[in-house]
Amino acid sequence: MEKNLLEIKGLTKYYDNILAVNNLSLSLNKGEIFGFIGPNGAGKSTTIRSIMNLINKTQGKVLLNGQELGKDDIALKKLIGYLPSEIHLYEDFTVKQMLDYHASFYKEKNISQKRKELVTRLKLDESKKIEDLSLGNLKKLGIVLAFMHEPKLLILDEPTSGLDPIMQQVFYELLKEEKQKGTTIFYSTHILSEVSKICDRVGIIKNGELLKIEKVDEILKKNLNLVTIKSEQLEAIIKELDLDANLKNDNTIKFKNNLAPDKLIKCLAKYKIDKLIIEEATLEDIFLHYYM
Ligand code: ATP
Repeated sequence: MEKNLLEIKGLTKYYDNILAVNNLSLSLNKGEIFGFIGPNGAGKSTTIRSIMNLINKTQGKVLLNGQELGKDDIALKKLIGYLPSEIHLYEDFTVKQMLDYHASFYKEKNISQKRKELVTRLKLDESKKIEDLSLGNLKKLGIVLAFMHEPKLLILDEPTSGLDPIMQQVFYELLKEEKQKGTTIFYSTHILSEVSKICDRVGIIKNGELLKIEKVDEILKKNLNLVTIKSEQLEAIIKELDLDANLKNDNTIKFKNNLAPDKLIKCLAKYKIDKLIIEEATLEDIFLHYYM
């Protein structure tokens, strides 16, 4: 996989004295889907708005295809398809007028076929006025606007929020096809199950800091288990396994570790155990571990 379609170097953003993003650096490989996750207020939208030059960075640079992405760099910006988390468009326009307007910026390309395909697959009614669109239909219009000029880089901020489950599946199909074509995708989401389903790598941001970047495959290979034990001898068990777990009232503890079940059972053999459950930790369990 080729390196570095998008590079963020030392991005810092203060809103007055609020530090929203702190010295964040990140490179996206060509053709990958990069999941960008973090709790509310972590700095995801600030990072994305900084990439898009919608806000002024306090410090740092963003490079696309090795070139610094400036505010008025129209040629470079045409390589991007952007779906903001909140979509604000011309309320008086119909969907058709909005799509025509968007298409008028890409006269050098024939995008009518792609536009038609997206409108059909997402079941978008072109005759509706934008002010009359439901949240889900507005999101679908946002998706068509981001995808229709076949950009090299898609920047998607919470793309599935508001979409019904059937439309979410249509959207995942579209993503898969984009990836097969070699489009690079920066995917910000709260929905952790999406990350295991569609992303190649994931970056976790919290309090403006990029905590970790990992390949989704690697995370899944860690064989982390979620263990539940109920016993009256929990204190001794916690000591024996050197667990960082708090005793609960009902003599039960739940913890994550990567001890092989065989070893765990041998360690527990000398205790009276009322309940033992060993489950494979999901990606969500692992992410929550970082979120907390
Ligand atoms: P969410 O998932 O809730 O959308 P986020 O990860 O996108 O959150 P940001 O919206 O980037 O987070 O916010 C990062 C920090 O910057 C938060 O502390 C937020 O309150 C603050 N912030 C964001 N926008 C502004 C603004 N326009 N003025 C002042 N502070 C802001």
